[in-house]
Amino acid sequence: MKTLKDLEIDGKRVFIRCDFNVPKDEFGNITDDRRIRSALQTIRYCIDRDCKIILASHYERPEPGKYEERFSLVPVAKRLHSLLKIKRDIFMADDVVGPDAQEKAAKLEAGDVLLLENLRYEAGETSNDKIFAKKLADFADIYVNDAFGACHRKHASIHAITQFFDLEHKAAGFLMGKEVNFFSKVLENPVRPFVAVVGGSKVSGKLQALTNLITKVDKVIIGGGMAFTFLKAHGHEVGNSLVEDDLLEEANNIILKAKKLGVKFYLPVDVVAAQEFSENTTVKFLPIQEIPIGWMGLDIGPASTRLFREALNDAQTIIWNGPMGVYEMDRYSKGSMAMSNNIAQTHATTIVGGGDTADVVQRAGDVDEMTFISTGGGASLKLIEGAVLPGLEALEN
Ligand code: AMP
Repeated sequence: MKTLKDLEIDGKRVFIRCDFNVPKDEFGNITDDRRIRSALQTIRYCIDRDCKIILASHYERPEPGKYEERFSLVPVAKRLHSLLKIKRDIFMADDVVGPDAQEKAAKLEAGDVLLLENLRYEAGETSNDKIFAKKLADFADIYVNDAFGACHRKHASIHAITQFFDLEHKAAGFLMGKEVNFFSKVLENPVRPFVAVVGGSKVSGKLQALTNLITKVDKVIIGGGMAFTFLKAHGHEVGNSLVEDDLLEEANNIILKAKKLGVKFYLPVDVVAAQEFSENTTVKFLPIQEIPIGWMGLDIGPASTRLFREALNDAQTIIWNGPMGVYEMDRYSKGSMAMSNNIAQTHATTIVGGGDTADVVQRAGDVDEMTFISTGGGASLKLIEGAVLPGLEALEN
């Protein structure tokens, strides 16, 4: 893959598409700044080469055209400034391609950094609009995509923008290079036993990845909301737990395929259940067989944690994507925390993918114990699916 290193960038205006979509707590504090830290290498490389740097990122899902403060990248600019440890300010634009961004970009000097506002304030970003992409492209001579976490999406700053740069003027950033190489190495040649731990809310989001993983791994462990579709497909009563009824057959097919391939398939055997999707309610620790009608499973229970730990014991490679429960609420976070601790304690090569899962690992204090924490959930899933990332493909055309 061609990276920034292969381009002539000295003194040029460089547009770097980053993924600064970091998690925040209820007070707006950034709880995990790994995505910002991961972008530093590329940014510093450009600063050292006297580039004029224009950074762009999306942040969550604002309504286009509506500038709400909670979606602003201002906190990111502040954190970036303290992480870069540079004396000069980072310029923050009040808009994306509007007059303020234009004016500030025009004033940049060698080594200056400007961060544009949330790309998704503009409707053209998600619709991959060519006119919007051209406005972004006009900021720079060089285009760098370091937004691994977003490059599975055909959005203007990832995809349409690349048509305005020829091969000598666009490349992947260093983070992107690292991410892609790591996943391809592990998926092509894993040390076995290779275990996939998959959780999160829904089967639908991870169906393709699961179908492909089944052909590569020795064991699959399923947790989180998605487990209930599999459990229901097995004939269990799962109450009001998250279930995708239209995927019951698909879930069954995955279980059958696993069986056929000799892949061991693990589902939770107990849950932490509640009557409401809330922390302030009575919870019960119940075997899967005993979820009452009207109750929902919001975390895996202690027996599942022990079972999963046993299954992980001999693993040599582990890929983990998706929390085991509604980890955002303390009461339902124990299964995910324990999973993090248990994975961290193995001697395996451990790869964590997904913003939520990385957040769990951070909260559990296991960041240093993991071999690699990917900054992209959806994008890493796409790599696991064996799909081509639109953002990467566009860099090569
Ligand atoms: P995903 O984006 O698919 O990886 O899902 C992550 C989300 O799944 C987190 O926000 C969790 O709160 C949610 N989640 C995990 N377990 C459950 C569950 N049992 N019921 C509902 N949501 C869940």
